[in-house]
Amino acid sequence: MISATEITKVFGKNTVLKNISTTINKGEVVAIIGPSGSGKSTFLRCLNLLEEPTSGEIAIKDVKMTNKNKLEIRKNIGMVFQQFNLFPHMTVLENVTYAPRKVKNIPNDRAHEIAKELLAKVGLTDKEDAYPNRLSGGQKQRVAIARALAMEPEIMLFDEPTSALDPEMVKEVLDVMKDLANTGMTMVIVTHEMNFAKEVADRVMFLDDGVLMEEGEPEEFFNNPSTDRAQDFLSKVL
Ligand code: ADP
Ligand code: MG
Repeated sequence: MISATEITKVFGKNTVLKNISTTINKGEVVAIIGPSGSGKSTFLRCLNLLEEPTSGEIAIKDVKMTNKNKLEIRKNIGMVFQQFNLFPHMTVLENVTYAPRKVKNIPNDRAHEIAKELLAKVGLTDKEDAYPNRLSGGQKQRVAIARALAMEPEIMLFDEPTSALDPEMVKEVLDVMKDLANTGMTMVIVTHEMNFAKEVADRVMFLDDGVLMEEGEPEEFFNNPSTDRAQDFLSKVL
């Protein structure tokens, strides 16, 4: 579904991604973990060319992503950010129907139908007409997930989707993500929620200082990390 080949990213004098290669299969759930500043967000953003790699290439379903085709390919990739990024002047329902109507030219009625189904799935049917500033963080993030899903993407990218939430709201968002994983969605998730990664991810990628130090099954990675860096990181977060 996604292949990243020898991705390097340089900002000024900083090489923040160093020759990262990986392949993500259809239906796979991959958790990206690592210390702050290790390049997790930059790598995730490279996967849909929100950040252009300095060298290396990304292919989605065997099609190489370029500046020419990236907008088209991105329609197939949903993204959810730490800071929700909802449109503040639109209701929940308008937030969720906007892109399908404008980008995919889906008729109003159909867009509403899809949006209502998705809002039911994330447990927000009663909030359709609310504006974002009336929602809790957990509710906002569930709207953001519904909004991304409304484009019917085959891939979902998440960048620390629960890091801005009060602790009591983390679970409701992780539960929605878990349901989504169970539907077979291909997901790449930058997260500090180690229990979630253990339970839901098929694979963990551990980044440190721009290097993909380790990747493997969660069970193996968490119980038996092979590098000192990963051992050190896990000793601090577990
Ligand atoms: P993480 O998500 O793991 O915390 P990031 O990918 O955000 O790490 O950042 C990796 C490194 O790249 C950091 O040193 C950060 O300061 C730097 N960086 C990220 N984005 C930019 C940018 N737009 N310009 C310059 N440096 C950046
Ligand atoms: Mg980050």
